[in-house]
Amino acid sequence: MKYIFVTGGVVSSLGKGLASASIGTLLEHRGLKVTIQKFDPYLNVDPGTMSPYQHGEVYVLNDGAETDLDLGHYERFTNCVLTRFNNLTSGQVFESVIKKERKGDYLGKTVQFIPHVTDEIKARIHDLSSMNPEVDVIITEIGGTVGDIEGHLFLEALRQFSLEVGRENVCFIHVTLLPLIRAAGEIKTKPTQQSVAKLREIGIQPDIIICRTEHDLDEDNRRKIAMFCNVEKKNVVAFRDVKHTIYECPLDLRRDKIDRIVVDNLGIESPTPDLQDWEDFVDRLIKPKHTVDIAVAGKYIELQDAYKSIYESLTIAGAAHHTKVNIVRVDSESIEEHGAQNIIGEVDGILIPGGFGDRGIEGKIQAAHYARSMRIPYFGICLGMQVATIEFARNVCGLEGADTTECHKDTPHPVICLQEEQKRVEDMGATMRLGASESNLLPGTRAAKLYGGADVISERHRHRYEFNPDYLDQFQDAGMIIASTSVREGLVEIIELSDHPFYLGAQFHPEFQSKPNKPHPLFSGFVKAALDAKVTVPA
Ligand code: GLN
Repeated sequence: MKYIFVTGGVVSSLGKGLASASIGTLLEHRGLKVTIQKFDPYLNVDPGTMSPYQHGEVYVLNDGAETDLDLGHYERFTNCVLTRFNNLTSGQVFESVIKKERKGDYLGKTVQFIPHVTDEIKARIHDLSSMNPEVDVIITEIGGTVGDIEGHLFLEALRQFSLEVGRENVCFIHVTLLPLIRAAGEIKTKPTQQSVAKLREIGIQPDIIICRTEHDLDEDNRRKIAMFCNVEKKNVVAFRDVKHTIYECPLDLRRDKIDRIVVDNLGIESPTPDLQDWEDFVDRLIKPKHTVDIAVAGKYIELQDAYKSIYESLTIAGAAHHTKVNIVRVDSESIEEHGAQNIIGEVDGILIPGGFGDRGIEGKIQAAHYARSMRIPYFGICLGMQVATIEFARNVCGLEGADTTECHKDTPHPVICLQEEQKRVEDMGATMRLGASESNLLPGTRAAKLYGGADVISERHRHRYEFNPDYLDQFQDAGMIIASTSVREGLVEIIELSDHPFYLGAQFHPEFQSKPNKPHPLFSGFVKAALDAKVTVPA
């Protein structure tokens, strides 16, 4: 097994996650099997309880782990399917050490940061490697910036780890920033030198330095960085700001042959990669034949990362139809104030993503109503499916005051409510219906057709409240189609309307299973419907 460790220097938000994912893409195209793991030095056990303002999206894995959004990049950029072992936080490390201490596992020793905490971190890399014996390379990205107090133990653990498994089996990659000082018209390498010096202080000598730059990296700067950071000149790699899409990142890193440097460094024999499929995908993104405007209405719309996987899934589905998806970000609270017509206006499709709590929910219900009554393609995900249900209950079934008990405990018509077992839950962390589970599809429905006639599908979940089965008959009598129910509990998974160009709600999160080489069928169907709606409406 070979190991790549990706650290970051100078500033955060350098695109370390994208760099790690892109290296994964390139290695896979060389025929290697990879898995990618993220270490997050914060004290939360997982990001599941963090606000989107803190953390952006929570990315959910098949096994129900609530993880950092970088894991979304890893799964989209590679073929790996990740598990909870692919995201380690300081919270988990300390939780485990303290549990062991209480159990007496340390046999009376003084429990210390070194070796006990660092051992715990190293164990996680070993665990991942024994769980994935077929994998050739494990890529581990360390969150935060070198020099942060909270990241120190992780770096110390990596240093020890490389000594134990043999330095020849480990490649350290350091991602830094080369700022451009406009007044002087100069790119500066000093911050890079200093952050590498910090790394070497801990005993880690990077093998490769990835330099984020707005522009190209000239020979002079390359030489300077090589000389003062003690790496070979060819191992100083430029990572430019991509022009159009993040999916250009692997192609950009390939320009300086990072994959070749990595495999040479690790002593792996593998052929030069054929990136044709990836290039074709990027080409479809950059040179679309059509465009559609899709409104996404949520309460965290001003944040870049809160609905990351949804945006990526739309982009990926668009590429499959040679279509650029313009995302119109709509604040659900302003719909409440000014009405759906005024705020959303003319769009080709409306998507309501998942969400929690009552802020902005009436705006989302209005958006669902607007889509249904104006025959605009609608795709509701999780809460988006629940608001479509509430809207239908109120305006088609005539159930006045219908609501979800998440927002109105004493609604006369709890069409969305807690299941018995959820009522007893008191903790907030990791207590939802989480992760992948199977659902049956009703043959002949739009959903079944989109899934290519499959009988059973597996999708990822992250929610507490469910479609209330007491109301099933009333909904079906009024024309709603229950296209899918969960295999185990018979819970409603997909609702749809047939007398509408596209009106579909899914209780699960299809956005966590969209890849460039496998656009999600529901996203694909939605974008196609938006495109058709656009073509058939005379301008
Ligand atoms: N708040 C809703 C629930 O818990 C929806 C969750 C979501 O959209 N992820 O059921």
